[in-house]
Amino acid sequence: MIPGMPTDTRQHSRGARRPAPEPSLQQTLGPGQWAPRILLTLLLAVTTPAAGNVADQLPALGDASSSLISPALEREIGQQFMKQIRGALPTVDDPILRYWIEVHLADLAQHAQLRDSSLQVVVIDNRDLNAFAAPGGVVGVNLGLLLQAEDVHEYSSVMAHELAHLSQRHFARGIEEQRAQSIPTIASLLAAILVGAMGGADAGLAAITAAQAAAQSSQLRYSRGREQEADRIGLTTLIRAGYDPNGMARMFERMQRTYRFTSRPPEFLLTHPLSESRIADARQGAQAYDTARFPDQPEFGMMRARALVRYAETPQAAVATFERAVRDDPDSEVARYGLALALSRAEAHGQAIALGDALFSSSPERILPLASYAELLINAGQYAQAERLLERGLALNPDNAPLGMLHARTLTKAQRYDDAVAALTRQSILRSEDIDVWYQLAEVSGLAGNIVGVHRARAEFFALRGAYERAIQHLEYARRLADRTDSPLIARLDQRLDDFRTALRQARS
Ligand SMILES: [Zn+2]
Repeated sequence: MIPGMPTDTRQHSRGARRPAPEPSLQQTLGPGQWAPRILLTLLLAVTTPAAGNVADQLPALGDASSSLISPALEREIGQQFMKQIRGALPTVDDPILRYWIEVHLADLAQHAQLRDSSLQVVVIDNRDLNAFAAPGGVVGVNLGLLLQAEDVHEYSSVMAHELAHLSQRHFARGIEEQRAQSIPTIASLLAAILVGAMGGADAGLAAITAAQAAAQSSQLRYSRGREQEADRIGLTTLIRAGYDPNGMARMFERMQRTYRFTSRPPEFLLTHPLSESRIADARQGAQAYDTARFPDQPEFGMMRARALVRYAETPQAAVATFERAVRDDPDSEVARYGLALALSRAEAHGQAIALGDALFSSSPERILPLASYAELLINAGQYAQAERLLERGLALNPDNAPLGMLHARTLTKAQRYDDAVAALTRQSILRSEDIDVWYQLAEVSGLAGNIVGVHRARAEFFALRGAYERAIQHLEYARRLADRTDSPLIARLDQRLDDFRTALRQARS
């Protein structure tokens, strides 16, 4: 569990785009067109060995070994898959939400029998219920899951199920069971996960057309046996991690009730149909814990409040919701937290800060209240106070992602662009695969008048989306503009150009 939020953070997930000052990245962002080719190349490598005797080596269900696809290859596939996701889906760039989701999942993963516990988490900006797992430790979650789950136990049950797909290496075993004979089949299995991640086939995913049609045939999704296994192992994970295993049955029942009469249920229910027996299994697996008490975690409620305020129709609607919640339960930390966020969004900054101050003062050593309070101060234009607070937090947790990102935001708002560039450069070293960091660094470099910096950061941003041509273009601009006498910089640019040209060649081969 996460009492008081640990200070370390898993630096893995990536973020979203916002409008930017001229010249803007926004205009140049299109759906990624490259990754499927890379995946096919990788998968070609998969199919060649030992196709003849694969049948003899098929692992039984429950055996997580995989002879055909090595963990190293899975990681490679996972990285390419992440590039595809970043290029195709809107992701959440809220550093506080991302932090909680990452820390929570990292904690759960410790109890999930993963061989390699390093995960790449991506939070999708979508209010529908969905979560997915892909090879190489990729876990995706729609922010909508936080709206649908009513406590941390229900939420954790979905995440534990996804972790079980990873620990049991369902992707690799699914491929082996198909005897690894056809590349389109393998590509389709991955595409099925991606289509699932997208919540359907909309949103400009022309990129995977070939595989897509096949992907929609449900046989390519994880089999029912695999889903049962993921439920069963997920329950074990919940119990070990100290969550209420009854959360799984409650979550299933809630989904069933919510979507009973909808003509188009969310993708998660299409890929994970809820049968009565599935719910009964979940209930039975948790029976021994029926009378145990599992309190909710306030941090989960706070993150749920963030999602609610984010997706509220209007700031006023969010204020009304949380005013009611505070009236119903004046002692609820979660209700007051939600009200503070809603008031801040409605630009009632004085009230928001008064509430935030009280919450923060009751636990000044915890990262979530500190970061949230700093955010309220930034929204109110109180940059000096926000900076003092964040620097205090960073002195204790120098590598913390949300504190670092909010610090950079404060400096940017206060128009101290050189300092903001320095803060984001530090973040880019800590989390070189965080697309939000590169996005912000490009914007702030522009404001600081550092055009070489703009192009370097954009190059990294595009490379993380698999758009290597654009990445190379930006590095070439940077190379042309760079000071010839700065030989370390020239050498670094040349090295990166080399990296991206190699990646592009691989993508095209
Ligand atoms: Zn599943």
